[in-house]
Amino acid sequence: LPLVALVGRPNVGKSSLFNRLAGSRKAIVDPTPGVTRDRHYEKITWNDRRFILVDTGGLESDTTTEINRLIQEQTSQAVAEADVVLFLLDGREGILPDDQEVVEILRRSGKKVFYLINKIDAPEQAAKLLPTFYELGVEELWPVSAEHGQGIGDLLDRVAAELPPAQEPGEEVSAEDTVGVAFIGRPNVGKSSLINRLLGEERMVVSNLPGTTRDSVDTLLTRADKKYLLIDTAGIRRKGKVHEKVEKFSVLRALRTLERCDLALIVIDALEGVTEQDTKVLGYGLERGRACLVLLNKWDLIEHDRKQQQRLLEDVKRAVHFAGYAPVHRVSALTGHGLGKLFPLIDKVAEQYRRKFTTAVLNRILEEAVQAHPPALHKGRRVKLNYVTQIASSPPTLIIFTNDPKGIHFSYSRFLVNRFREALGLEQVPLRIFFRHKR
Ligand code: GDP
Repeated sequence: LPLVALVGRPNVGKSSLFNRLAGSRKAIVDPTPGVTRDRHYEKITWNDRRFILVDTGGLESDTTTEINRLIQEQTSQAVAEADVVLFLLDGREGILPDDQEVVEILRRSGKKVFYLINKIDAPEQAAKLLPTFYELGVEELWPVSAEHGQGIGDLLDRVAAELPPAQEPGEEVSAEDTVGVAFIGRPNVGKSSLINRLLGEERMVVSNLPGTTRDSVDTLLTRADKKYLLIDTAGIRRKGKVHEKVEKFSVLRALRTLERCDLALIVIDALEGVTEQDTKVLGYGLERGRACLVLLNKWDLIEHDRKQQQRLLEDVKRAVHFAGYAPVHRVSALTGHGLGKLFPLIDKVAEQYRRKFTTAVLNRILEEAVQAHPPALHKGRRVKLNYVTQIASSPPTLIIFTNDPKGIHFSYSRFLVNRFREALGLEQVPLRIFFRHKR
């Protein structure tokens, strides 16, 4: 899916605008049941175009960096990863020092950029506030009011027009017989060592394919007649030999990669432990319904340190508590520890991720679940769950038809998810259930 990134300094109204854009009447937002937290990332459909809107301000929470540098870094990353950039300025503040530099970065990128001037709450304010912004030297300014919703629909129309028409759902992920695997993790956790060792050790056929972004490269590999697409291995494989590490961890890039994979291998340095970024990426993986596998690399370094092992495993447990399905696997790129079991584990998870079920099987499970534990009354009325069907795999996604979709309590839908997961043998992948009104 194309990526639309929202950038700008703090307090210009990024998150209000994000909510506005995501909450617009015509915009269809892909809901993920059971996830309630600050969202900085939303899949949006508008005029038959689909894209992901990202509030970059919410992504990185590096508070140690000074603001101006942070904005410039955010912008550079947005420019590298996004298809369209929305640069937001505060109409009441005017141009601030350093804004010009950000505009320079944007202009040089050649990307489509919309310059939005926020907090223009009334037309007469536009006449008063807009002119100063033309000093930035950009051709078109978009007055908007995130708070009052002005200018939002027009903006979305224009943004959508910049994007390619939506593909059929499912098309965006790799082909049916190929498992899309991504290695995601901070610099120096050992991603390239792992990949190189895996590729070198086994008898594999490897070829490089251009990825979707300018500088991304995918690696197609065949192993024991199975095909895997290692996604966005460009920076990862090239390194290893080169020693200076210019790579910076980019959550935006991780998001983009998550879009395309079936299975995300979240690589963590066992000695360093779990970082906030790891936790975030896991959260996004869950939101996108990806199968995730946590790899604790450099296990050799803590092999004899019981205390660190315990601390690490507890941290991991905390980080994946909302994605309890994600298996945790200990490896060492240095000694090869755990690597022999990695592909079998990937296969097992991928198989669950893509499994398809017959309606008869699903309905029997639903019936038994309801019998064992019927849903509570809603506003005094009985909630009936009529039947269930699978509408997608990758991840397995079910729709349950009911007389009252709003009447199903969160805890009850969780109960059903657990029941189905258990009965269907989907222990290691996410399972989505949506409720629809029975027609
Ligand atoms: P990347 O940035 O995630 O690709 O990390 P690299 O693969 O470049 O590894 C960073 C450093 O960690 C290098 O010095 C590696 O030799 C080292 N390293 C990688 N994996 C292991 C491991 O399993 N054990 C130990 N002890 N060192 C490792």
